[in-house]
Amino acid sequence: KPSFDAVEPEKKLAQYEMGAELGQGAFGVVKIATKSGVQYALKIVKKRSKLCDAMAEKEAELLRAVSPHDNIVGLVDAFELPTEYAFVMDLARGGEASRVQVFDRICDNGPFSERAAADVVRQVALALDHANKRGVCHRDIKPENLLLTDGSDKANVKLCDFGCAAFIPKDQPVTGRWGTAGYMAPEVIRGDGYGPAVDSFSLGAPLLALLAVHSRVLLFILLGGYNPFDPGGDSADPVIEKRVLSNQWAFDPECFGSVSKEAKDLITKLLSTAPERRPTSSDLLANKWVMGNASAAP
Ligand code: ADP
Ligand code: MG
Repeated sequence: KPSFDAVEPEKKLAQYEMGAELGQGAFGVVKIATKSGVQYALKIVKKRSKLCDAMAEKEAELLRAVSPHDNIVGLVDAFELPTEYAFVMDLARGGEASRVQVFDRICDNGPFSERAAADVVRQVALALDHANKRGVCHRDIKPENLLLTDGSDKANVKLCDFGCAAFIPKDQPVTGRWGTAGYMAPEVIRGDGYGPAVDSFSLGAPLLALLAVHSRVLLFILLGGYNPFDPGGDSADPVIEKRVLSNQWAFDPECFGSVSKEAKDLITKLLSTAPERRPTSSDLLANKWVMGNASAAP
């Protein structure tokens, strides 16, 4: 089965009425697109090189491999045009258009409670557990790629952006320097072979940011994210990576004074330098704090 359905792609694209932009990442632009009264998220990846084309096709293949799942953005269609690739996805509507990311919710409603943060982790763990069972490692877990289905308190978290993801080879580690500085696990930075534990590492930073309630940190979140390895928000990637390699980060007592020990223990374990010490997705799904039985109140 080809990754892209190439039957009259221009006709297909013309069926969608393009709307507001939802977001822009390293490789594509995502817009609301309406067809027969239903709104979707359309990701357009411009063709630039053979490598880009191969990556876009792989992204569709990976997304197909993990779809459908309640906590992963659903792929509706993918097609190839002469100058670009188009992915039609179920629309995550965090509320208003373009307020789709988990972290927009902090800007709109203030900091997350521990319970709400734990529930984000639970849902990401469900997505990762599913992806791992399908032999997929995401490699780019970060705030920008955690979306919300709607504007309510009961919104589900949807993991998006399989543009950096990989199929895990049989009996062999995954290789390649993929991800984003500040979220990339030390073994990836070092160029070692690695496995799904890199996704556990990457989840540590967003969890920490979700629980950081101090106003200074909140300001950073409003401005686009707070990262434990870049607390000032202004460090160059090599500096951030050096901090990751030496596990150099701390809970600012002003931000974490009222955060439970269980939550802090979990972040510390997720950010372990040694991959085998990090909780796996199934460990997370058995974790008391994640699943809501922790003794500490928000
Ligand atoms: P890139 O590979 O360029 O980072 P992403 O797939 O991460 O592209 O999409 C970029 C942004 O577009 C996301 O961070 C998010 O804000 C928005 N977005 C992506 N997919 C959807 C979707 N299905 N529904 C709503 N918004 C989306
Ligand atoms: Mg992205």
